[in-house]
Amino acid sequence: QRQPLVIANWKMNGDRQLVTAMAEALRDSSAQHADVSVVVCPPAVLLPAWQQAAFYDNIQLGAQDANENASGAHTGEHSLALLAEAGASMVLVGHSERRQFYGDNAQRIAAKVNQILDESTMTVVLCVGESAEQREQQQTFDVVASQLAEALASRKQCERIVIAYEPVWAIGTGLTASPEQAQEVHAFIRNWLGEKFGPSGVNLQILYGGSVKADNAEQLFAQADIDGGLIGGASLVEEQFVAICNAAQ
Ligand code: 13P
Repeated sequence: QRQPLVIANWKMNGDRQLVTAMAEALRDSSAQHADVSVVVCPPAVLLPAWQQAAFYDNIQLGAQDANENASGAHTGEHSLALLAEAGASMVLVGHSERRQFYGDNAQRIAAKVNQILDESTMTVVLCVGESAEQREQQQTFDVVASQLAEALASRKQCERIVIAYEPVWAIGTGLTASPEQAQEVHAFIRNWLGEKFGPSGVNLQILYGGSVKADNAEQLFAQADIDGGLIGGASLVEEQFVAICNAAQ
């Protein structure tokens, strides 16, 4: 049985005040999402504030990215060791914004996945998804399959891996994939994982991301192969994010 998982991706948003308010909202509502694993990925400098605010709560922290090297001359980057020290136990890898604007190509994404799995105890949240144009040209399954294959090429085991399916056209646009559209790709991903890793691959958590809101979360999470969500904009609004966590219960 796969545990429901909801991850907040704050992107380059939020501040200390929101950390306090969101931690309080999640604490007050914790009974309603007791079976849901809740993870928050704030900008890295807010990790210590989150660590403090949610010290007694059952909330895990994550990083939005990490460098593929252990340490050294990489100005502006964060190592896994530093992120772990600041409380992160998960790392998003290959978010479409990083693929599009910050040079995360297939090779670098694979290097990050390998670094996380081989050199830390953290979990990888590997983000995949097609653009609008690729969907129009019916390349969705090919694109998703090659993103998975490239990122996981050298992996023989599937421990500490979560997949997030985030169609690029649904991110920050208000155009959510329909539950049927999302389910279709999630089923494809699950099948791919089964072929790559065997029976244990089939049990990996697969999250949907892209304009998930309080009013569409329940329908999405009700799909057989959708185990939760990766939430951008709605994770910055207390009532919205709490409602989404509740919908995963
Ligand atoms: P939105 O929920 O704002 O569409 O963002 C989704 C996302 O990119 C989460 O990683």
